[in-house]
Amino acid sequence: MNKKSIIVIGAGMSGLAAAHELNKAGWNVTVLEARERVGGRVHTVRAFSSGLIAEGGAEYINESQFRMIALAKEFDLRLGNVGTWQNQSGDWAALEGKTGLMEDKALWGTDLSEEYKQVWVALAELGKQVSDPANPIAAINARELDAQNAQSWIESLQVHPLAKTLFANHIRAEYTCEPKNFSLLDLARNGALYYSDPDAADPAFRVIGGNDQIPNAIASRLPDLRLNAVVSSVKVQAEEVVVTYKQADSFHTIRAAYAILAIPLTTARQIDFDGSLPTAHHAMLNGLSYGSVTKVMIEYRRRFWHERGWNGRVNTDLPIIYTWDATSHLEGERGILTAYTGGEPGAALTRLSDTERIQTAVSAIDRIFPGFSDLIENTQTIAWGNEIFTRGSYMAYAPNQVTAHWQALFSPAGRLYFAGEHATIYQGFMEGAVESGQRAARNIIEKGQ
Ligand SMILES: Cc1cc2nc3c(=O)[nH]c(=O)nc-3n(C[C@H](O)[C@H](O)[C@H](O)COP(=O)(O)OP(=O)(O)OC[C@H]3O[C@@H](n4cnc5c(N)ncnc54)[C@H](O)[C@@H]3O)c2cc1C
Repeated sequence: MNKKSIIVIGAGMSGLAAAHELNKAGWNVTVLEARERVGGRVHTVRAFSSGLIAEGGAEYINESQFRMIALAKEFDLRLGNVGTWQNQSGDWAALEGKTGLMEDKALWGTDLSEEYKQVWVALAELGKQVSDPANPIAAINARELDAQNAQSWIESLQVHPLAKTLFANHIRAEYTCEPKNFSLLDLARNGALYYSDPDAADPAFRVIGGNDQIPNAIASRLPDLRLNAVVSSVKVQAEEVVVTYKQADSFHTIRAAYAILAIPLTTARQIDFDGSLPTAHHAMLNGLSYGSVTKVMIEYRRRFWHERGWNGRVNTDLPIIYTWDATSHLEGERGILTAYTGGEPGAALTRLSDTERIQTAVSAIDRIFPGFSDLIENTQTIAWGNEIFTRGSYMAYAPNQVTAHWQALFSPAGRLYFAGEHATIYQGFMEGAVESGQRAARNIIEKGQ
């Protein structure tokens, strides 16, 4: 057995980041990827007119996400600025049958953006209960917080009822689960990690030409990347890890000193570990919850939304929850609106056929801004729960799951290491996937000395 050999399972951002580090350190790396492409949940859709593209999966890279920014730089990719995620001029709400600018007092009877800001102030306060977001289980009242859910916290807030609706939608979009299914400990942890200053701005970017250029560029550097290779069993032994995968109609078994499992836990549940996982890892792998998310991308011949001071972003109680302009970082007449739907509305759209899902989004946008559907040129959609190598959106800690599984998530099972957006403090982001992969690689390189 080559002591510096490793099998990386999954060629999403986490697996690729790990493989990239190990390859540079001179390790013998084999990457197994089930799909015929790399990138996983980073998936640029190139099915629109005039070379327009939209991100079907991960879209935004924040300025603070230095690992992703560094990868873009390493491969000479340019970033297009899309402003801050939280608050932009031209943000609309469409709630209770009314539609318009968040700050339109005449419409809402109050400045909704100011009302909404009070929730972020409360979130910053909640975050103070988690002094170390990298170790939430050490918070004094960790168990108590973890047993509660975000819904009851939202209900307890002394803010305008519509601000509560807006924040419930924020949870559905950011964590892709219903607030009642989201651990208050993890909301507090996120509050501490990202939202301790309600006035802070963290501008976001998209990679010009498509986010998928980052995974593609890393993949091009890897000497042994096997596509269409679906891992079906992993056996962790004292001296090696034995991995079996199916490619075309044949099964192949390979061995290495270490392995990194860099796939969603939802798909890891399909793998036979032959009883070789410790109990805590087995419970973690099978127990952690995932959210639901869908995207519908609609190309319009004209960016009609600019005509009435709408930037394309709406937070709504219609079935689509959120929209934004997927082309906001580019000049041009044509544009793409993306409807981004998480939580129970996302699960409901996942259950529809592609055609029905697209129709639901088109109708909702037509209710918000009537009369422009005849400008539609192309439509595309992805329901990530229906993708068999994803089976969900990303991990979302349900009540009691942080305290139950945090430790196992951050420790290897013998020679098997865990990476992925779930196995990081920057959970749910490309940045987190990269952090987890780089950390796993570093730990293994140290062990292999
Ligand atoms: C709709 C959507 C929007 C998002 N928006 C953002 C955003 O704006 N910003 C952001 O930073 N993040 C965003 N994310 C999250 C981001 O996409 C993920 O955090 C990140 O890409 C996950 O990388 P990963 O390596 O953990 O997993 P994945 O990307 O899922 O990679 C895992 C890989 O493993 C493969 N695989 C699965 N099963 C097997 C098997 N049995 N054998 C072999 N290979 C297998 C899969 O095909 C896949 O390629 C979004 C995600 C979604 C779904």
